[in-house]
Amino acid sequence: MSWKLIEKARNLLEEENGAIKKDFGGKISVALIYPNTYYLGMSNLGFQSLYYLFNNFPDIVCERGFLPSEEDLKEYQRTNTSLFSLESQKPINSFDIVAFSISFENDYLNLLRILKLSKIKIRTKERRLSDPLIIAGGIASTANPEPVAEFVDIFILGEAEEILEDFILNYKKARSEAENKTEFLEFFNPIKEAYIPRFIEVDYNDSGTIKRFRNIGVGKEKVSVGKVKDLNKTETFTHVLTPATEFSNIYLIEVSRGCSRHCNFCLIGNLMGKGRFRDVNKVLLQIDKGLERTNKIGLLGSSISEHPEFDSLCRSLSDKEILPSISSIRFEGVRDPLLELLVKSGQNSLTLAPEAGSEAMRKLIGKPISEEVILEKTQYAIVKGILNLKLYFLIGLPGEKWDDIKAIDDLIKKIRHRIVKETKGKTRLGKIIVSINSFIPKPFTPFQWYPMEEVSSLNKKLIFLKKSLKGMSNISVITDVPKWSYVQAVLARGDRRVSDILIKTLELDGDWYRSFRELNINPDFYNYRDREEEELFPWDFIDNGFSKDSLLLKYRITKKEISA
Ligand code: SF4
Repeated sequence: MSWKLIEKARNLLEEENGAIKKDFGGKISVALIYPNTYYLGMSNLGFQSLYYLFNNFPDIVCERGFLPSEEDLKEYQRTNTSLFSLESQKPINSFDIVAFSISFENDYLNLLRILKLSKIKIRTKERRLSDPLIIAGGIASTANPEPVAEFVDIFILGEAEEILEDFILNYKKARSEAENKTEFLEFFNPIKEAYIPRFIEVDYNDSGTIKRFRNIGVGKEKVSVGKVKDLNKTETFTHVLTPATEFSNIYLIEVSRGCSRHCNFCLIGNLMGKGRFRDVNKVLLQIDKGLERTNKIGLLGSSISEHPEFDSLCRSLSDKEILPSISSIRFEGVRDPLLELLVKSGQNSLTLAPEAGSEAMRKLIGKPISEEVILEKTQYAIVKGILNLKLYFLIGLPGEKWDDIKAIDDLIKKIRHRIVKETKGKTRLGKIIVSINSFIPKPFTPFQWYPMEEVSSLNKKLIFLKKSLKGMSNISVITDVPKWSYVQAVLARGDRRVSDILIKTLELDGDWYRSFRELNINPDFYNYRDREEEELFPWDFIDNGFSKDSLLLKYRITKKEISA
């Protein structure tokens, strides 16, 4: 045991406001793990909500755990310390349940690292009844849990709020009645959102594609994605304030969930269904509670500006001199009550996502905003005093041609021209941060049949854009690294055989490309292949309430548009 690490944990706790410390006596203990650093985990509202939800049960004690920083990891290894929880510094392997909240596929390897560091057997089949129950949830593993199916006992798919009670009840029954691990897991099978990989096996065709899913024992045909119908019945806000996050001491409140736009490339808009909104009076009540703890309020949501009462919410906040920060909005949301509020609150930057440079490509991806609207809205924001813009673009979209890449360059320069004109002679000059990312065809989207573009081609496009925008005052460009997007795509689209890649990469200390070389699995199979329309995808046993046929229809429309 390292006293240095314990001291660090205690220092973090001292800086926090809102951590929950409960007695363990007779309670079910849950180690809630964010498979990345404290800084990132504590910025995650889903993780924060789960912490609160678990601890709301009187007979549960839930503590947090994170992936240690590089420096702390060395100390863990040097002292042979088993990973411990933040609140009481108890070893993670002494908890009854270890629950992973996974938002990003890139954190799958960290799940394995954490199990190893906690001295918990990595594969579900190796673990016994006496070992902690390993559960996982979050958007990444809801869309496609298969790459980590070998390591998790039970996945909870979708939003957990309305499922947890049943889960805990079944856990209690299982604990008192089950005699072995399989029997134990069977108790959770009636929960329609519980995916238990042990009860589904996968058969493959000679070509490597999936032939069928086979139920073993109590396995079920389909596993549902949990969705909370009425957001007002949930409370999603920052429970633990800390300076050590991206949202330093900001009290975040979730205003909306899901999105009704269903853009063809977007996982959130397709997997989690139509936009759901919290009533304005509930948001205002939550803000009042937040203001009792901090003067910094942040409003979050995937389609926040689509809220039917968004303008009235902005006006109420402005009247009450409540000046929040607001996450990214759609172009349509760039209008007065919001802009006035942002300017008043001193927020001088706005995040917007044109996604593509040409109107034709924006239409193809299901986000048909005209160039006129983009230019008009960005200019309006600048005139109002919001001088800094962060613009998101995707490259490698289906059917993309060089003209589409040049159109990104053109659009950025047109926006820049307007910023320069509007801020000329002023003391504060406007800036544009351009964020360019490689498109990954995500499960449950109409684009799931398309391949990812080859890394070499993505690199060429990035070089072109960076070169063309280089040296332009007011513009800075940040991009992803296509070879890492390639790895992410394998994890987002892969099947159960990807678990071998994860194990190998763990052994090789994170060297993905060496493990690709050393294993008899071709990752191009997951990324670069055009899918047949009738192909069975690794995530096809998941039911999110939308039919695959409706996605196929949209896919066909885009195929027709591309070949026209
Ligand atoms: S990209 Fe934005 S607007 Fe489109 S579906 Fe996703 S969240 Fe909604």
